Amino acid sequence: MTSHQEHVLRGIVRRAAALPFFAGKYAGLDLTGDFDLTDVPEMTREDITEAMTPVAGDERRPGAFLFTSGGSTAAPKIAWIPIEMHLDAIVPHWRPLRSDDVLANLAMPGRLWSAHYFYNGLAERCGADVIGLGHVEPEEWPHWLDFLHRHGTTAITGTPSTLRQVLDLAIGTGHPIMDRLRTALFFGEPCPDELAGLCREHGVGLWGNYGSTETWVIGHNGPDCHPRTFHPLPHQHVEIVDGAALVTTTHPGAVSPVIRYRIGDRVSWTTCPCGQPGAVAVHGREGALVKFAGTLVSPEELVELAREDAAVAAAQAAWWDGEPERLEIRVVPVPGSAVDTAALRAGLLDSQIDLRFALRGDDDTFRVVVVDRLGMNERTAKTPALLRLGGAT
Ligand SMILES: [Zn+2]
Repeated sequence: MTSHQEHVLRGIVRRAAALPFFAGKYAGLDLTGDFDLTDVPEMTREDITEAMTPVAGDERRPGAFLFTSGGSTAAPKIAWIPIEMHLDAIVPHWRPLRSDDVLANLAMPGRLWSAHYFYNGLAERCGADVIGLGHVEPEEWPHWLDFLHRHGTTAITGTPSTLRQVLDLAIGTGHPIMDRLRTALFFGEPCPDELAGLCREHGVGLWGNYGSTETWVIGHNGPDCHPRTFHPLPHQHVEIVDGAALVTTTHPGAVSPVIRYRIGDRVSWTTCPCGQPGAVAVHGREGALVKFAGTLVSPEELVELAREDAAVAAAQAAWWDGEPERLEIRVVPVPGSAVDTAALRAGLLDSQIDLRFALRGDDDTFRVVVVDRLGMNERTAKTPALLRLGGAT
């Protein structure tokens, strides 16, 4: 980090300290002189909402969208994002659309979710047309695929789960939309290698961005990049502390201060296959451990291991924490392949010695099963690595 960057970051911390929330949070800090930035406490999602709530009505600040992430049952945690959505700072570095593109925006509108509005805004900045379609049920797709083709769709944006669904249908039925489709944009969940491979095979350029509602876009990638590696934007200061990402937004137009915000992902620095160093590889969520059979298990790690099996196209964990508790690794086979579930189960247990010992031959509590498709959250169209299925079934 240059001394200029340190100067900018210290300025952000000092300005934030004038807000009531930070006055409390930073009470023990001496913010004079060249204070050490690593002494500044981290922020959580709750902090973002709490910091802004008392000053939200300040008439001097610019207008904002109130967006939320998650919060399906609990009170939503709000982030204030400027109406301009930082597009001025994003598009010079990440411009996935051309002015002759027609973008089918499959992100769900409403419910304070941000992606739909962001991709409409991105299309506008790139001079492209946009079809704000939103979420489509699987049985409606054949009809909508015809519609999108009729209106010249060249690009689609959605979660990787949605993109996979649409591409599988279009490719499987030999739909003419594939002749024109040249760009796919993903967001919201990690992009599996299979989707990246499918796009490459069919000449569709795959672009993604990484971030959260609170930080907004942190990094981006394109067709020559690894799908889970991202290049940080200049206004996002990324620190990696013990494998966790902390992000500070230095954009002068930011409405909520985002200072050492803990995004909740395990990450590392890497050089992207596109050749650019200083990229962030995202490995999954932090601390996603569940107590199962009396031991701590990372369902994400089991899912990642299952996906290393050459016959497995996709995998997901399903966990019932009632009585009797149960953990299931669900796998979708590669077309034309058969998954040896017994061998896969044994391999997974070999990697988890505590779990193998705890189960001691109990075959029903931990199972590997073959399924046609993985469970998806209907509202967000995301496929989580772990389905929490609550009580016994
Ligand atoms: Zn790259």
